[in-house]
Amino acid sequence: MQDCIFCKIITGEIPSQVVYQDEKVYAFKDIAPAAPVHILIIPKKHISSLEDLGSEDADLMGHILLIAAKLAKELGLAKGFRIVSNCGDEGGQTVYHIHFHLLGGRQMQWPPG
Ligand code: 5GP
Repeated sequence: MQDCIFCKIITGEIPSQVVYQDEKVYAFKDIAPAAPVHILIIPKKHISSLEDLGSEDADLMGHILLIAAKLAKELGLAKGFRIVSNCGDEGGQTVYHIHFHLLGGRQMQWPPG
């Protein structure tokens, strides 16, 4: 999608610190980390948010969660980690290309703000 910053990150038009990619998924360091480890995992296909998922995206979403768990292990998050996907304005979403935050390396609090 033309005006999407995450689509531009996937193509390399906007630089990023990639930590993993395959034919369907791209994972990179968040520019403003909220934890010692803060990775964004996104599909290469442009989907705006969780609200826009179709049943055809079920395998892709499962794949992303498997990658998240694999990256958490590789990044040494043996004590635990958090996966977050903010959806819509009240959900705190600021970039409308679906993404999953992988956060770790510190004690998480509940409920989140
Ligand atoms: P959201 O608020 O939509 O859940 O998360 C968007 C995330 O994208 C934020 O944590 C923000 O720091 C990150 N972000 C926004 N623009 C860029 C960018 O240009 N590069 C990187 N690496 N992260 C970005």
